[in-house]
Amino acid sequence: MCYASTNQPHWSKGELQLVRCTNCGMVYVNPVAAAMASGEFYDTEGADYYLSPAKLASDYADVRFERELRLLRQFCPRGAVLDVGCGSGGFLFQLKKRWPMDYEILGTDVSGGPLDYAESKDVPVVRGDFLEQNFGGQKFDAVTLWAVAEHLAEPKKFLAQIHAALKPGGVCFVLVPNLRSLAIRLLGAKYRYVYAQHLNYFSVSTLGRLGERAGFEVVATRYTHFNPVVIWQDWRGEGREVSNAERGELLKQTTALKQKPWMKPVKLLYGLTEKVLSILGLADNVVVVLRKKPS
Ligand SMILES: [Zn+2]
Repeated sequence: MCYASTNQPHWSKGELQLVRCTNCGMVYVNPVAAAMASGEFYDTEGADYYLSPAKLASDYADVRFERELRLLRQFCPRGAVLDVGCGSGGFLFQLKKRWPMDYEILGTDVSGGPLDYAESKDVPVVRGDFLEQNFGGQKFDAVTLWAVAEHLAEPKKFLAQIHAALKPGGVCFVLVPNLRSLAIRLLGAKYRYVYAQHLNYFSVSTLGRLGERAGFEVVATRYTHFNPVVIWQDWRGEGREVSNAERGELLKQTTALKQKPWMKPVKLLYGLTEKVLSILGLADNVVVVLRKKPS
């Protein structure tokens, strides 16, 4: 974030060491495993999770990207949208399905298997390292990073590259796990998302600064999502490793539950809780909307 080299130990969990920058407060994994730094993990070991039937079904459920779609509509009602780290393409698929006339879509990722799936769903993709692409000179009205920046060894470079790929006045959406969430306040390193795949642990201030340093202005901040089941399980599980199969199974269960009609009153209460936590800045994720200055 700031290229200062002074840091202090923050958390350790198994082999994972996290430090906190004494200059800017950024919390990050140090050292970073080679397969994570290169993104190779997502094309090899990570693939079983990202391609599991449970994960795919969840990615393509109508309810999965409700909040993200609403936010995109608010700040980018039409135009060309690039989803960086699109995985199996669920977000772009929903966007095109709901508003086919308003958007032109493109996805990119380092992970081949999920991209094959995206293409089978008519989501156009570009393969490979985002930092090495220029999309034939095409510029976008919006670029989205949904739960991607926490996986990146060099998030600053990504933000700079996104800045270059946007039209003047274009917007970038960055959603990451919230370091100040209720879940992390209660669980600390026991939280399942403190794990090898997550290299960066952002708060709203470090995330905003990341955008500003890349030349953006922060035009909106939101806190979204709340999963009490995860908190409950991790609390009881004492921070043990949660397998990919288990992660997938939980996704499947919650996705199925969300669609049951008798869940209406529970959803209402849940929605209210999420709203309160969002207002307090304690929800699971933090999102910033960044705007490239109009030239
Ligand atoms: Zn720093």
